[in-house]
Formats: sequence, structure tokens, C-alpha cells
Amino acid sequence: MIPEPNPHLASLPVYEPGRPIEDVARELGLDPSRIIKLASNENPIGPSPRAVAAMREAAGRAHIYPDGNAFLLRQAIAQKHGLGIGQVVLGNGSNEIIEFLGHAHLSPGAEMVISQYAFAIYELVGKLFQADIVEVPSRGYGHDLDAMRKVVTLRTRLVFVANPNNPTGTSVSAEELGKFIGTVPSHVVVVVDEAYQEFLKDPLDTPALIAKHPNLVVMRTFSKAQGLAGLRIGYGLASEAVAAVLQKVRQPFQANLLAQEAALAALADADHVRRTVEIVDEGRAFLENEFRRRKLEYIPSSANFIMLNVSDGKKVFQDLMKKGVIVRPMHGYKLPTWIRVTVGTREQNETFLKALG
Ligand SMILES: *Cc1c(COP(=O)(O)O)cnc(C)c1O
Repeated sequence: MIPEPNPHLASLPVYEPGRPIEDVARELGLDPSRIIKLASNENPIGPSPRAVAAMREAAGRAHIYPDGNAFLLRQAIAQKHGLGIGQVVLGNGSNEIIEFLGHAHLSPGAEMVISQYAFAIYELVGKLFQADIVEVPSRGYGHDLDAMRKVVTLRTRLVFVANPNNPTGTSVSAEELGKFIGTVPSHVVVVVDEAYQEFLKDPLDTPALIAKHPNLVVMRTFSKAQGLAGLRIGYGLASEAVAAVLQKVRQPFQANLLAQEAALAALADADHVRRTVEIVDEGRAFLENEFRRRKLEYIPSSANFIMLNVSDGKKVFQDLMKKGVIVRPMHGYKLPTWIRVTVGTREQNETFLKALG
């Protein structure tokens, strides 16, 4: 017998992240240096060297609490987007911003609108706060924004749009997204998750729309194109009023010292992001071309990963792992025939293709 937990947690699954290299090495008796991880959409060329230098410099100050207000980082982010510092909320990864939104806007009986095949954390957080999840069927594996708009009711509190979406790699056009943001009623918080924004070819300047739409929240992260996934740092952009509420629900020092320093340095290193995008563009074209050549069904991607139909996702995931390549099976998304592979370096992509063969 253990003390009874809250009953709504009984059916709440635990999020299954991409498997760590060390874990797989231990389990299969493999040499970790020979394993490649293409499972979590991380940066193929690593963090910005400027971010690494900033962390080294800050390490000796690790005994002092970070700036709980994160003035320098929030100011730099605000400047980058032409916003005020009071419009920037930091998260321990942008995943934490999703949880803040739950704290601030969800309660039992509140409705939350998501797309089928959308990023799994939205639903998990919705369930955590006992919201009613309204899942709208996807259109070609992507978001059907018109259908999502139509299910909004007076009880709707949050709508999530991941653009590009993970795990499908689909995106909506700037025009469609702008129209959607403009037509969702003002009692609903529209959350546009732009974790992979840097990879978009036709990005909408969403931060600029906040002035006109104070119910808009834009989420960004340093985990993907910026290469700082291990540090756990991301942010939300919102109107002053919405951001002020999100600030209330966070723990005082959740953006740690090294993360703040590294993110600040990474923001100033546009070159690193540019190089990352170049390598990803090239690698994605290479992989998609190989998939076509091998007559494998895939979803054309706007991000740094591709979803691929291999007929038995779990089995192919297991078999690839034995060959030292970690990808992501998609059964958790009710896509049991698919895997998702992150675009790596040219060498990693070739290793993956060889193992897949
Ligand atoms: C990776 C990802 C995030 C952000 O993850 P953090 O590491 O918590 O910043 C957010 N949304 C989507 C769709 C993602 O794929």
C-alpha cells in the first residue's frame, strides 16, 4: 500500500524520450563511441563554440545562484524580437513553458485544442491539469487549421500549433498561420510552438503579431538549431499581461547559470545557426532523395528530422539500435509503421542509410 495519489494521474503515461547513447551501449554491450543518436532532433554540429566558452567562464561562479530575473538573457531575447523584456518568459526548456500555460490557463473542464500527431507533450500537460483534450484529425499528417478553428468553444482555453510540427515535420504557410491567429477568439490563448523555426523557408514573424493579438504566445528553444539541448533552456514570448501570469507559476531559478550564459552567447552567434541550417538542408535533401530512390514513403519535412514508413517501426527501431543507430519509433503517436530520424552529419546519415539497408 502507498498513499493514494490523485486519481487522474493513474492514466497519465510517462513521456518516453529518445534513448541515450550510454543506455543503449550498456544494454547491448556496444562501444558508446560507435553509437549515433538520431532520435531527439539535436544539432548535428554541436553547440556554438562561443556558448561553450561562456559556460567555461561561468563555471567558477556555480556556487552563486543565477540571476532569477535573468535580466541579460531576457533583454537580449526581447531585443532580437523587437519586444519588451516583460514579454519574455524563460523555461527549463520550452517544454516548461507548456507546463506554465497549463498552470495559468487549464483546469478540470477546460478545453485544449491540439492536432492529431502533434507534439506529445501538449496532451500530457493537458491531462496533468485535467483539461478536456480536443484532438482534431490531421490533414496529410499536418495541422488542419480551419478544422481546429471550428472546434473552438467558449470553454476553450488553449490551442497549440507546432510549426514545424514534431514528429511529422509538416508546416503551415505563413499566410495560413497568420489568418488562423487572426481568427481565433480573444478568450483563447493561441500557442505557436516554433522549436524548429530556424529551419522554415517561409517563416511568419509571429513575435511581431503579439502587439495586435495579446492572446498569442510564441515558444522558441535553444535545444535544436542552437545546439543547447543538454542545458534545458527555452522561452515564451507574449503580451506583458499574459507573460506576467506565466512568471507567477515558475520556480525562482529554473533557468540555471550555465544555461543563461550559454544562451546569451549563442544568441550572438548567428553564424553557427546559419551553418547548422545549411548542413541540415543538405542532409535532409540527401536523405529524402535516398528514400525516394528506395521507394520508401516519407513525409516531406520542414525541420531537421524526417518521418519514414518502414512497415514495422518498433522492429526497425530495435534492429537499427543493434547496429548502433538510435532513431525513434512512432507507436506512441499511433503511427506503428513509422520511425522518425534526425538529420545528422553526412557521415551519420550514411551510417543510418547503410544500417537501414
Ligand atoms: C524539441 C521540442 C520542443 C522544445 O524542447 P525543449 O528542449 O524543452 O526546449 C518544443 N516543441 C517541440 C515541438 C519540440 O520538438
